[in-house]
Amino acid sequence: MDKIVALCKRRGFIFPGSEIYGGLAGTWDYGPLGVLLKRNIKEEWWKSMVGFRDDVVGIDAAIMMNPVTWQKSGHVDAFTDPLVECKTCHQRFRADKEDEIKAHEKTHKGKTQWTPPKKFNLLVKAYLGIVEGKQSEIYLRGEITQGAFVNFENVVSSTRVKIPFGIAQIGKAFRNEITPGNFTYRSREFEQMELEFFIKPDDKEGDKWFEYWKVRRMDWYISLGMDAKNLRFRKHEESERAHYAKYAEDIEYNAPFGWSEFEGIHHRGDWDLSRHSLSYVDENGEKFTPWTIEASGGVDRSALFFLLNAYAEDNGRVFLKLHPKLAPYKTAVFPLLANKPELVNKAKGIYDSLKPHFMTAWDARGNIGKRYFAQDEAGTPFCITVDFQTMEDDTVTVRDRDSAKQERIKIDKLKDYILSKIS
Ligand code: ATP
Repeated sequence: MDKIVALCKRRGFIFPGSEIYGGLAGTWDYGPLGVLLKRNIKEEWWKSMVGFRDDVVGIDAAIMMNPVTWQKSGHVDAFTDPLVECKTCHQRFRADKEDEIKAHEKTHKGKTQWTPPKKFNLLVKAYLGIVEGKQSEIYLRGEITQGAFVNFENVVSSTRVKIPFGIAQIGKAFRNEITPGNFTYRSREFEQMELEFFIKPDDKEGDKWFEYWKVRRMDWYISLGMDAKNLRFRKHEESERAHYAKYAEDIEYNAPFGWSEFEGIHHRGDWDLSRHSLSYVDENGEKFTPWTIEASGGVDRSALFFLLNAYAEDNGRVFLKLHPKLAPYKTAVFPLLANKPELVNKAKGIYDSLKPHFMTAWDARGNIGKRYFAQDEAGTPFCITVDFQTMEDDTVTVRDRDSAKQERIKIDKLKDYILSKIS
């Protein structure tokens, strides 16, 4: 974990939020490489959940919502974690996180006294309004989900969707987490990618679609390179299920800090639509309240686990074996020597010709070994070098990140060669 945190900082994946002012607990800023990684994850998610399907449409709802939404959804009353405070040092913890509780008890040599658990609401409050003293209190959304529910009727009436169908969305959510930590894993501001899939209120349908989305979502992570042996499903116990869930299973990753949820598949029943008094009329005129199967993934947690999964060391060489679809840069182009104008010009020409097609980096600093080193740590799958032979036969070397092997490829075949490897 320490190695990934250091690499993320060094290479520009992830920085502590507002670091020059001492940071702000639970916030993170994505740097030049991190923003590309995150965009690629979101792009792949969107393609698989919306682009390739004809039964799912997307929306992008506002972060600030009428606060009645959160009363109806149950979050004002029930979106809570159990909070306990150490009577000695007044640090606060989640009573249901046994490992953190035990670790803290150790620091007081087992003599910790805790306050009784009290319910702590995770919704982040904000104040909206221009007249001082007359602002209205609102919440920053605690989950992006409610945006899909409050727009249910708008989507049904403005598109041709028919049950079963889904509403997909990606966006920021905010939670006043009691103990943010494990790098970006538990943040107070984070991004979710979610599908709300509406079905007939029928047990068989519920079981079928729950199973369907479980499998689809797990397969998606594996298709983008996550090692299946580091992934598992975990069923929620009745006692830990969220207030809206009929039943739920998490997709967990075997992280250095233990098996950890990064996507939840939830059977929300008719909880939300009925709380918002929304219903659906089918083609036979039958009116009912659909059930919802939800697949709720975290963009930041996925990014962290894709990074952990990709981290590799080989004889002192560090590289990120990110799936090419997720890698921030697909290629990097170098002139072998930066002080030979003919090599630099030739390499620049290649760089300019590839840039419109995929993210291509340029590097002419230091020696070639250092440049490979930097691109390996950035997870760039292919490095293209213009050398003296290029000037004779119009070929370049293409070095594969994972094997460190090089091939010579004709410049006019280069774009198609790279495209065939990254798509
Ligand atoms: P946890 O039990 O870890 O607090 P949760 O069960 O409350 O998570 P959900 O409400 O199911 O999480 O949210 C769906 C997804 O949103 C999670 O699987 C996770 O990927 C992401 N997520 C939730 N809380 C956070 C957070 N504090 N920081 C980063 N991502 C989060």
